[in-house]
This record gives sequence, C-alpha cells and structure tokens, in this order.
Amino acid sequence: MAAVATAPSETIVTGSDRAARLFEAGGRTLEDLVLERWDELIASGRAECPVCGGRLHAAGGCNGCGSELS
Ligand SMILES: [Zn+2]
Repeated sequence: MAAVATAPSETIVTGSDRAARLFEAGGRTLEDLVLERWDELIASGRAECPVCGGRLHAAGGCNGCGSELS
C-alpha cells in the first residue's frame, strides 16, 4: 500500500458566517432576529416574519412566504 497525501482541511470555510452577515441590520445578526421573533411568537402566538415581513403564526408559519421558525 502506498501512502496517500491528503490536503489539509483548515482552509475549508463554511458559508454560514457570511450568509448571516447578509441579513445583518444595525449590528444584529440573523440569529438575534430569529430568536427575537421566536420569543414573540411563543408569547403572543404571532410575530412579524423575518423573511418577508408578513404575519407569522405559531401554527402554519408565515401567511406571506410560508416560512416557519423551527
Ligand atoms: Zn414570510
């Protein structure tokens, strides 16, 4: 059996940090926004959709785009 050289994996970068920054507004991250909406949804049963700004319901998700917080 010959030895196989493999490339180091440290150079692999996931896109999650970059994707989150695309939605960043006023220093808040997408995660902050989603958690805020999630709390609102639990407290009142409805919240503003973080995706389209439509009405988000605890059961059935968003009226506008169909997104659900999970
Ligand atoms: Zn929506």
